[in-house]
Amino acid sequence: MKKVLTIGEILVEIVATTKGHGFRSAQPLVGPFPSGAPAIFIDQLGKLGTPCAIVSRVGDDDFGQLNIERLRADGVDVSGISIAPGECTGSAFVRYREDGSRAFIFNIQHSACGQISRTAASEKLVDHCDHLHVMGSALSAPGLRGMIIDAAEKIKARGGSLSLDPNLRPEILNRPGLRPALERILSMTDLFMPSGDEVFLFSDSRDEAAAIQDLLRRGIRSIVVKRGSEGASLFENGERYDASPMQVTETDPTGAGDSFGGAFLSFWLAGASAQMALRYANAAGARAVTQLGPMEGTSSRAELDNFLHALED
Ligand code: ADP
Repeated sequence: MKKVLTIGEILVEIVATTKGHGFRSAQPLVGPFPSGAPAIFIDQLGKLGTPCAIVSRVGDDDFGQLNIERLRADGVDVSGISIAPGECTGSAFVRYREDGSRAFIFNIQHSACGQISRTAASEKLVDHCDHLHVMGSALSAPGLRGMIIDAAEKIKARGGSLSLDPNLRPEILNRPGLRPALERILSMTDLFMPSGDEVFLFSDSRDEAAAIQDLLRRGIRSIVVKRGSEGASLFENGERYDASPMQVTETDPTGAGDSFGGAFLSFWLAGASAQMALRYANAAGARAVTQLGPMEGTSSRAELDNFLHALED
C-alpha cells in the first residue's frame, strides 16, 4: 500500500463556545485540541488505516505531546516530528461570528511549527513515501517552500503521486513567492482538492466548468471541489460525480475539509470507485462538522459506516 507524507504545521486550538462576541466575552473557551490542517488531514488517513507520516515540529511541552500521542494512537508515523527544547508548540484561538464565519488568532510564525526544517528523519520519510500531500497553508511559510518542492520532485521522480489542497485564506494569497510555489506544485499535482472559490485560483475564468477544463488541460487527473454544506463534486476521466450534502447539525466546521480530503485520498489511493471515494469523503466531512474540535471529528471506517447507515436509512 502506498505511504502518504505531508509536511506542515501542528498546533493546538482553543475554541470559544459562544457565538458572535469578541474573545473578551467568549466564555467558556474549550481545548486545547490537537490541530493544524496537515495534522488533521494525516490523522484522517491514519484512522482509515492508510500508511502515513507527517514532518513537523513541536515544542517540548504538553501541547506538543498531546498532538504526538493523538497522531500515534490514530496510526500516523510520528518519526518526522521534531521536539524542539526551548520552543513552544504553535497555537490558535478561534471564535465564531454571528454569521458562522470564524475569527482566528494564530501563534504560529514564532512557534515551533514556524521553524520546521530538514532533519535526517524527514529525509528518510521523503525517501520512503510514495505520495505527498501538499497543504497550501504550509507553502505559505517561506522557510518550508523549498523543502516541500524538493520532496515533491523526489517523490514524483520515483513514480509517486501528489495531491494539493490550496487551503489558503485570501489574505495569505499575495505573500511574496507563494504564487510561483503553488504553480510549481500544481504542475506536479495528480489530485487537486480546492474548496469553493479556490477552483478559480489557476484560471482567468469565473465559470466553474471552464476553470475545471483549464485544470484538466494542465494534466491533473482528478479534481474534487468541496462545497461545504452544499456537498462536493468530483471531476475524473471525463465524468462529473456529485455528492449531495448529508443532513447534519453543524457544531464546528473547522477540520471538515481536511477530514474530507484525508478520507478521499485514502479511498482514491486504494483504487476505490469514484462514487465510493466521494461518498465516504462526503460522510467524513459531514461527520467532522458534528464534533467540537478540529481533529475530534476524524473518522474510522466503522464510524463512517455507522454514520452512513444512520443517515441513509
Ligand atoms: P473546507 O474546510 O476545506 O472549506 P468544506 O467546508 O467545503 O471544506 O467541507 C468539506 C466537505 O465536508 C464538504 O464538501 C462536504 O462534503 C462536507 N461538509 C462540510 N460542511 C458540511 C455541512 N454543514 N453539512 C454537510 N456536509 C458538510
